[in-house]
Amino acid sequence: MSNLEDLYREIILDHYRSPRNRGELPTPPAHQVEGFNPLCGDEITVYIDVSDGVLQDIKIAGHGCSISQSSASLMSAAVKGKPVSDVHATIDSFKRLMTVHESQLDDQVEPEPVDLRKLGELAALQGVVKFPVRIKCATLAWNTLTQGLSELNA
Ligand code: ZN
Repeated sequence: MSNLEDLYREIILDHYRSPRNRGELPTPPAHQVEGFNPLCGDEITVYIDVSDGVLQDIKIAGHGCSISQSSASLMSAAVKGKPVSDVHATIDSFKRLMTVHESQLDDQVEPEPVDLRKLGELAALQGVVKFPVRIKCATLAWNTLTQGLSELNA
């Protein structure tokens, strides 16, 4: 298990040090939405370009802890260029990963199985849920993206 945890730590650090899709998109045509996690001071700005039912491009700006920034980078890599329906499915899977572990901590029950293979590198963030206060760091970018898609009715 420690080897897997080392791999996950490496993925998170890699995305923190070399964030993917970092920057801004011109608005319009892109849509800009901001997220803030007051518990940790994380700030995220997500720029999304949606057309023809596809998330054509995504850029991330902002600053914060390694978990919030690497989660945003991992998210951008996972959803860029994907149909909006796939983006929603990925958001749901990721949030379930976080929620499942949250309930596991609360109730000491066996978690629902989550297909980590479908999540790819996103699975690296599952270790975050051992530290419940960090879950808001990990989900910040995702909640911000969800808000953006909602504002676009996408
Ligand atoms: Zn944070």
